[in-house]
Amino acid sequence: MLNLYKPRRQIIAEAVSVLSSYGVSQEVRDRLTVIFDEQGDRELYRANPRLLAAHLQLHERTALQLLVMALREGLVTLNWEVECPACGGIDPAHHHLHELRSLHTCPACKTIHETNADDQVRVTFTLDERLRKLTAAADDPDFRNKMDRRYGTVSAHHMLTLPTFRQLFPKETLPPNESLLIRRVAILFTDLAGSTQLYTRRGDTQAYELVHRHFDLLFRIVDEQRGAVVKTIGDAVMAAFTEPHQALQAAIAMHTQLNQLNQDLALPPDDWLRLKIGIDAGPCVSVTLNDRLDYFGTTVNRAARVQNASYPGSITITETLLQDMVRVDSFRGWQRQQRALRLKGIDHPVTVYDLAPPRGSQDSRSGTSTHRQA
Ligand SMILES: [Zn+2]
Repeated sequence: MLNLYKPRRQIIAEAVSVLSSYGVSQEVRDRLTVIFDEQGDRELYRANPRLLAAHLQLHERTALQLLVMALREGLVTLNWEVECPACGGIDPAHHHLHELRSLHTCPACKTIHETNADDQVRVTFTLDERLRKLTAAADDPDFRNKMDRRYGTVSAHHMLTLPTFRQLFPKETLPPNESLLIRRVAILFTDLAGSTQLYTRRGDTQAYELVHRHFDLLFRIVDEQRGAVVKTIGDAVMAAFTEPHQALQAAIAMHTQLNQLNQDLALPPDDWLRLKIGIDAGPCVSVTLNDRLDYFGTTVNRAARVQNASYPGSITITETLLQDMVRVDSFRGWQRQQRALRLKGIDHPVTVYDLAPPRGSQDSRSGTSTHRQA
């Protein structure tokens, strides 16, 4: 039968039903169908994802994941909108990441400014016209400003660190030689202590199986703490988080859960999987390397070097990260000890903090017995 004779609700419901293949429940699909069918035109044109999350009664991140799946299936289109720091005008002309440039010229006031992925670039979604044709009245800047003030916006940086986006749109990258400024990102590096000895003692197959399980565990924790795995280098993992406290929570969970895994597998103490973790936070640039998004800059270098100077079972963080930790309960009883660290390429020593698990905890019994010897 021709679409012409189908009621709009049915067309939308059929289109939305494809999301079941992503594991989206019937209940959420029904809610999305109702929103696409019944909301006003203004609410579905260049829509603030946080407004849609409120309508969907979903957590912002869950709603964003749902919208990325809808984008993959062509139910919505994505806009990367650049806000001019001079006149406040918004340029919505970018549908793909590769259309963004390091320097942006405001179409309204012609100011040339850097594209900062936290402050200047935001994402919005528009309902695809195949599902429902929006009227000209849908384009209402006053309404959008009001919603942005009420709900806050979702930054490009937030979108770039959403694992669902990276998985479903691996080709969405920045053009070569272009970069986005990220005002603040927390970079976490891990490395598996003693993995060479592990391979020697247990043989390649068994050791690889253990290392693989450790990767699974780390990837899951990074996702739970709303971060993104940027890459793995040998047995090391590099992950990015928009909030420093998320990086710290991830690090604590990694140690705790890895110790649990060691016990569950009844590994002899010599073969325990132990991590050395380092975290720093600060500005960096996002670029595309080998068709993948990556981060570069002093923050990344410092995080890697701090990780290198960390001890098995402990977490080493920089002063910057500590100052950013507004929530005291973020440390979950982990004790911190200050030390001065000399880093390659930096003249004066930098202050870092080694975090050790609370005394008497499972982590302290197993993890940091080698704390000062490393
Ligand atoms: Zn402007």
